[in-house]
Amino acid sequence: MGTREALGSERNPLRVAIVGSGPGGFYSAQALFRADIVVRIDMLDRLPTPFGLVRGGVAPDHPKIKEASLVYESIAETPEFAFFGNVTVGRDVGVEELRDTHHVVIFACGAEVDRELGIPGEDLPASHTATEFVGWYNGHPDYRERVFDLSCETAVVIGQGNVAADVARILAMPVDDLKHTDVAEHALLVLAENRLREIHVVGRRGPVQAKFTTAELRELGEIAECDPVVEEAVLALNPESQAEVDDKRGKVAAKNLGLFEGFASRPAATGRRRLHFDFLESPTELVGEGRLEGVVLARNRLRGEPFAQVSEATVESRVLPCGILFRSVGYRGVPIPGVPFDDCRGIFPHRDGRLVDGDDILPGLYAAGWIKRGPSGIIGTNKPDAGATVKGLLEDIPRMAGGARAGGEGLQELLAERGVRRVSYGDWRKIDAAEVARGKARAKPREKFTTIEEMLAVLD
Ligand code: NAP
Repeated sequence: MGTREALGSERNPLRVAIVGSGPGGFYSAQALFRADIVVRIDMLDRLPTPFGLVRGGVAPDHPKIKEASLVYESIAETPEFAFFGNVTVGRDVGVEELRDTHHVVIFACGAEVDRELGIPGEDLPASHTATEFVGWYNGHPDYRERVFDLSCETAVVIGQGNVAADVARILAMPVDDLKHTDVAEHALLVLAENRLREIHVVGRRGPVQAKFTTAELRELGEIAECDPVVEEAVLALNPESQAEVDDKRGKVAAKNLGLFEGFASRPAATGRRRLHFDFLESPTELVGEGRLEGVVLARNRLRGEPFAQVSEATVESRVLPCGILFRSVGYRGVPIPGVPFDDCRGIFPHRDGRLVDGDDILPGLYAAGWIKRGPSGIIGTNKPDAGATVKGLLEDIPRMAGGARAGGEGLQELLAERGVRRVSYGDWRKIDAAEVARGKARAKPREKFTTIEEMLAVLD
């Protein structure tokens, strides 16, 4: 194979490594396979299991959303695709090594950790991140050992986005409604003992600025034996918020406001639980002797132009007693050795998906998904996002150093030398089948393995 063969041709296929096997990674692969070039894709993931947040983030009672993985499965069945599960980039293989074995590396490694509130008491026992809770009920190996004490009466969720909605819904819903989902068994046992009666979902801005999508908010009003609670007074809008709902950009906000109005006018509570929507309040401290006992909430007002209103603390505050709290205020990416990191935004710095170091473009390195744009949008948002990155990549091909690369075979050799146990897509299919079989006995779509050892044991 000579170096003169055009890159992206039958004799010199474009070798692409994709780091991360969630939506950003799979939509990048899809866009590449649809392009008019010959390409071989090797997708790496630190877990033995693919699909990222579709497996480990999407709530178990949202099986329709999980169906996104059907598309990913068909992409993974492409002969020019290989999965390298159980391989951590930056530990098992370096970024520079991937640049040697492949022409292109696309980072689609998501945003794996929570943003911090940066307030005193944040780390008190019984103060948790949304990531921990979501990972725990979804059987993610990193979080299976976490302990959530739901024997108290009141829980607080900080943040009013869709992750906060997931957390609040799982806390509020009757456990029987989760029994036949793929929720992790360890979580089901704990949720069965859930004694919570009051769940507060706290937003620093007003009802118009809440980030819930309408379907997710509507669901929060439809939980069995749980009454949504909204104080009528908070629905009186300032002129700027009124302008937001009157504008066509405020369509979702207007629909959400209608739902909040419906919640506020519901007859007195009848259910076992109450789900409170608290607005215009920011946590300033978590308090308690040795463990969480309450959260200090400063009263806010809004300041600024429509669509750019920010919260500003007033002198008023209150203490909301609670036994457990979840911080759900957005995610951040995690740095990988050898790749520049924008610590402020928690993303890899890039220009139109091309990674940069200061002003310099780093040839052959790209980003897609949450590590590129930050944690926003729904699963489908990653498709045009990855498409845009791949478009730039294809434009760059004529300028790439086009010599043939060892690709997946070279990577496999490196890993074998280091004793790294790579999980192939065929291996994953075996793990998948074993999980589905375990689930059958419990009338669940699957019973996930929650340790890497268990997953690998299936292959022995
Ligand atoms: P998000 O939608 O950005 O919501 C974050 C929330 O945290 C906002 O209410 C934000 O308020 C608040 N916040 C941020 N910093 C804060 C602070 N210092 N103090 C108090 N509140 C603070 O993020 P997310 O809920 O983590 O969701 C991430 C993405 O995943 C979103 O695009 C979401 O739609 C998507 N997702 C979708 C689904 C679904 O479709 N079912 C499920 C889960 C997640 P401000 O608005 O004032 O900043």
